[in-house]
Amino acid sequence: MARSWTIRELAREAGVSRKSVWAWVAEQGWERPTSGPWILDAEQARLVLERFEQTAPLRTPREPVACGVDDCERTRAGTQDVCKMHYQRRARTGSTDRSSGGDWQTAKTHCPAGHEYTPENTYRFPSDAGTRRRCRTCRIAQSSRPRT
Ligand SMILES: [Zn+2]
Ligand SMILES: [Zn+2]
Repeated sequence: MARSWTIRELAREAGVSRKSVWAWVAEQGWERPTSGPWILDAEQARLVLERFEQTAPLRTPREPVACGVDDCERTRAGTQDVCKMHYQRRARTGSTDRSSGGDWQTAKTHCPAGHEYTPENTYRFPSDAGTRRRCRTCRIAQSSRPRT
């Protein structure tokens, strides 16, 4: 006896959402049982899988896409090419790489505005617990910025 398939099984097999399989199957005008789940025969299943094999790499943006960073299993954030965590890390450090040597604050070489943390350009508040550096250039720019 030939294998029969439900929409759910086909969606899982094709790696697409059940909704997209359902929508496509509905377009084919295949006979649908009046009750119970929609069962497709082997030939119909083959057509469905063939159809979604071609489009699987072009999934709609609303379906979650994996983060662009190797080994990251999170999904992409919005229209970004990486997940939220990697997006934030890149915004902070300019790279999606985990900074080596522990604390990213200490590993960072430039302030958020891009000024280098040279000894001359760096100062700390006594309350900063020794790790947080502040950029002197930014500080001067802030205090001398004309009020509007
Ligand atoms: Zn990621
Ligand atoms: Zn700065």
